[in-house]
Amino acid sequence: MLKKSKEIISQNIVAISTGLIAPLIIWVITRICVQIMPAIDELASSKILFPLLVVSMIANCILYALLVINNKKSKMIDRFSVKWDKDKNAHCPICDRHLINYGYHGLSEYKNFWCSICKEPRFLLDDGKYIELDHAKENLNI
Ligand SMILES: [Zn+2]
Repeated sequence: MLKKSKEIISQNIVAISTGLIAPLIIWVITRICVQIMPAIDELASSKILFPLLVVSMIANCILYALLVINNKKSKMIDRFSVKWDKDKNAHCPICDRHLINYGYHGLSEYKNFWCSICKEPRFLLDDGKYIELDHAKENLNI
């Protein structure tokens, strides 16, 4: 139960952080706007501000869409001490390198992936016990 909660939180940490920070940002922006709007009104007419507002809103919508698309592409889940993409390919939990060389590396008696960037073995563990790659892929539930 606790492990499942940790997985859910780690997978949605960006959304949770945004949700927690967004009210504060909105409050700060409204405070700033209340202070500077009279000065802006004096400097520029609404004929300039309204098109700028529309362009800004369109740019924000485009950036948000790109962020959502990019987030879906790179979404990986943490399971069995490594990260997995939607095609059940293992990735290093530290550097995200695609791990392909599953076998015996170093002096270990257990099979593992060797991360060539981190220069460390990445073992597949389920509740602290070593498991095989086939067993991990069968139990991924992706
Ligand atoms: Zn690595």
